[in-house]
Amino acid sequence: MNKMLELLSESLKSNGHSLTKTREKVFLALLDREPQTMADLANSVGGKVDRASVYRTIALFEKLGITERLQIGWKYKIELSDTFAAHHHHITCTNCNKTQVFEETSILEFELKQIAQEAGYTEVGHQLEIRGLCTSCQHKVIK
Ligand SMILES: [Zn+2]
Ligand SMILES: [Zn+2]
Repeated sequence: MNKMLELLSESLKSNGHSLTKTREKVFLALLDREPQTMADLANSVGGKVDRASVYRTIALFEKLGITERLQIGWKYKIELSDTFAAHHHHITCTNCNKTQVFEETSILEFELKQIAQEAGYTEVGHQLEIRGLCTSCQHKVIK
């Protein structure tokens, strides 16, 4: 079994759940991909798994901290939590909603920690999102 699937299986088991075929398919559809909307996700496992099961699976994954929601305006996308994917951030296009992943520099990471420390906090985590216009939308938008 794939290492990530083993990790998934362990985190399900330690919470009293088992690794079903549906859970495996939804998980694999999220692995190594950019964040997806629920509709995208339902489509990528579509045919094999019904929509309601995809929603139920994501609800469980969220509860167990396996997936996270990336809030974009009123909508959200789903992605695997830092346990299953390397720590990273996103840039989202405000026009077409395309999301790209980037890794921050150690300087930025360091400064975020410092901001927390100066405010008297111990930093346990952060979310950082950048919004803008992607290259293809820059050409479409009339200035
Ligand atoms: Zn765009
Ligand atoms: Zn970070």
